[in-house]
Amino acid sequence: MADREAMFYERNEDGSLKCNLCGRRCLILEGKSGVCGARINEKGKLWSRSYSRSCSASVDPIEKKPLFHFNPGAVVYSVASPFCNFFCAFCDNWIISQQRSLSETLTILPEDNVKSAKTRGCQGISYTYTEPTVFFEWAFDSAKIAHSNSLFNTFVTNGYLTPEAVKTIAPYLDAATVDFKGAGNPEFYNNLMRVPSVEPIYDCLKEMKKQGIHIEVTNLIVPKYGNSEEDLKRLATWLKDNLGEDTPFHLLRFFPNFDLIDIPQTSIQSMERAAKIAKETGLKYVYAGNVPGNRGENTYCPKCNELLVERYNFSITRWNVAQDNTCPRCGEKIAIKGRFHKNHFS
Ligand code: SF4
Repeated sequence: MADREAMFYERNEDGSLKCNLCGRRCLILEGKSGVCGARINEKGKLWSRSYSRSCSASVDPIEKKPLFHFNPGAVVYSVASPFCNFFCAFCDNWIISQQRSLSETLTILPEDNVKSAKTRGCQGISYTYTEPTVFFEWAFDSAKIAHSNSLFNTFVTNGYLTPEAVKTIAPYLDAATVDFKGAGNPEFYNNLMRVPSVEPIYDCLKEMKKQGIHIEVTNLIVPKYGNSEEDLKRLATWLKDNLGEDTPFHLLRFFPNFDLIDIPQTSIQSMERAAKIAKETGLKYVYAGNVPGNRGENTYCPKCNELLVERYNFSITRWNVAQDNTCPRCGEKIAIKGRFHKNHFS
């Protein structure tokens, strides 16, 4: 038995429950699940069905999340549980995220996640692959034990956590990668992801910032559907104005997948154009990702343009940052949280 009573819900007089974990704030009738399928109303209580139900686990470089400015070079133990509160037509991990059953899972308790991370020599745990919001309780309990074992915690999330959920996990959540698609265009979210409103993502980001969580943001560029210059400019400007010019912004290439296989992968030219637009808004660290061998994944000094970190396919191949996280050429302070780990330095 691995279910756990859910956090963040209210009971209504008619027996229905309101889940306040994510921006959907589902009203859930007796015997029914919320939109994500991970939380069920049974006898007037809300339960997390996916608690401690692992569908995937692996050791990854932190650069794969992607987190380029948080403990660079670290390795993280990556864990996931089924279900998602978004339904992206192009999901890379649809086999596990869109699963509506627990039959293919293993019971892995929070302390087991921590033990596995330590045994494998990881510096942290990443809650990833599917959406950590909907396995919040498992992540929360693991994260608390991880901290007491000197491991850090990171989320790779769609950013739909409510501010109250962010506030609760903030003491244990060190970093988050928040993924946008189509530059946050509301129609894109409606039509291709079945998400009614994008506003909760901005509220979540503001709360993360307030709580001091290290944030890196990604944006998936989908040709034809989510590639407008205006949307990209608007998102990059919002990030700069609300999270700061030091916020790393990763532009990601789309590859045909799941239900969206009739359009081509994003061209390198589109990636370069997008990076140029994002940089022009004033963001200091803009990356063009999923383009192995491309200079777009390197970090350059925002002041003198010195090559500081060279990366290839999620590995750091050159580290040229002074010990106090400054540029060795001009002394500019470089926005890096944590320290450099030599784990997968090649
Ligand atoms: S976590 Fe699931 S049940 Fe809760 S509000 Fe979001 S979609 Fe609904």
